[in-house]
Amino acid sequence: MTHSIEPASGNGKTLRCPICRQQFTCALSSTCWCSTRTVPTKVKEYLAEQYAKCICSTCLDRLIEEAGTGESA
Ligand SMILES: [Zn+2]
Repeated sequence: MTHSIEPASGNGKTLRCPICRQQFTCALSSTCWCSTRTVPTKVKEYLAEQYAKCICSTCLDRLIEEAGTGESA
């Protein structure tokens, strides 16, 4: 996998979420919004299996929430 670090110019790339088809921006670096989320390992693994790209913050938050509500409903 090629991994080019582009000069940070604020927002990053515009991508389309593979789940909900909404457009969102991904910085493709440590400054990306997703690095501010605490993503459970099983969610990361699920995403890596299902989707080749990032997903939007809405869907990521939903998956994190679903993964975290296993014990108390
Ligand atoms: Zn989405």
